[in-house]
Amino acid sequence: KKVLIGGGTGFIGKHLGQVLTNKKYTIVNVSRMPSTNSITWTDVETSLPKQTNAVVNLAGQQTMDFTRSWTPGFKQNVKNSRVFTTRALATAINKSNNKPKVYVVVTGVGAYEPSEIKKYDEFSPTTGNDFFSKLLVEWEEAAKVDPPVRLVIIRSGVVLGRDGGMIKNMILPFFFGLGGPLGSGKQYLPWIHIEDLSRLITFAIENENVKGILNGVAPHVVTNGEFTQAFAKALSRPALFPVPEFLLNFLLHEERAMLMTKGQHVTPKRVLEYGFEYKYDNIDAACKECAHLFPKK
Ligand code: NDP
Repeated sequence: KKVLIGGGTGFIGKHLGQVLTNKKYTIVNVSRMPSTNSITWTDVETSLPKQTNAVVNLAGQQTMDFTRSWTPGFKQNVKNSRVFTTRALATAINKSNNKPKVYVVVTGVGAYEPSEIKKYDEFSPTTGNDFFSKLLVEWEEAAKVDPPVRLVIIRSGVVLGRDGGMIKNMILPFFFGLGGPLGSGKQYLPWIHIEDLSRLITFAIENENVKGILNGVAPHVVTNGEFTQAFAKALSRPALFPVPEFLLNFLLHEERAMLMTKGQHVTPKRVLEYGFEYKYDNIDAACKECAHLFPKK
């Protein structure tokens, strides 16, 4: 059983690799850096590794890389690193004589236009006009593969895990008691624990009836303010220092800061219908697992 993972070297990819390895899968990553168990994006243009059963794409330039300013060049990079890698794997799957059974692409809840009023599930339209909504449409379009290969697109919320993503960025200020809500704190914060996202990707690989769009979010919908309280409580720290929206807009650029200052109410209707069981279905349990200063081995 072999799984090819684009961007398997990243935060989600490493966790997924672990879950799959525990289940006796063989992992091959597609990476820009050569290493023993990886192939390059140029290799993908020629063919897929023999007997690949499933392909997953997790590649993408990190949007919240605060060392990079939000220039047109960087935005292009954020977009192309997702659309081109997703398309490269789809093309390789379509060309292959020995096709994998399933292609899983992890995109984001940015597909739904941020709103404090609207409620979204997998059947909701993606009508947003902001940079991320538009990117999501192109990204998911690039994932199209010919039947009988199953396509599963997981629109992930913010992934909570100690060693990457948002928690890694905020644990130090929170640890020193300097944490607080972002902007108004009223915006929704769709989230999923890293272990559940890795399990959901594995669930999509293993269950032949699973296809189409899945919202990769926990069923417990919270706002940024509620998440902040849960995380501070898990660390036994106060969270008294709100970060004003204008400051985030000024530091990160308004277009990018909206990933933090705006949000959407997203539920995992189809995920629950398929019978997937979350390990972390409420925010307190998820925060408790993430609230330690050093990554657990
Ligand atoms: P990471 O940044 O940890 O890893 C992504 C991987 O993508 C890297 O390991 C890297 O692999 C590859 N990569 C980075 N830049 C480029 C580039 N310019 N061109 C090609 N490949 C590149 O990301 P995550 O694991 O956190 O996220 C994976 C995917 O999930 C992303 O598409 C992200 O948008 C999406 N997602 C993540 C969320 C989160 O909270 N983390 C939330 C919602 C969606 P290498 O260096 O080996 O080439």
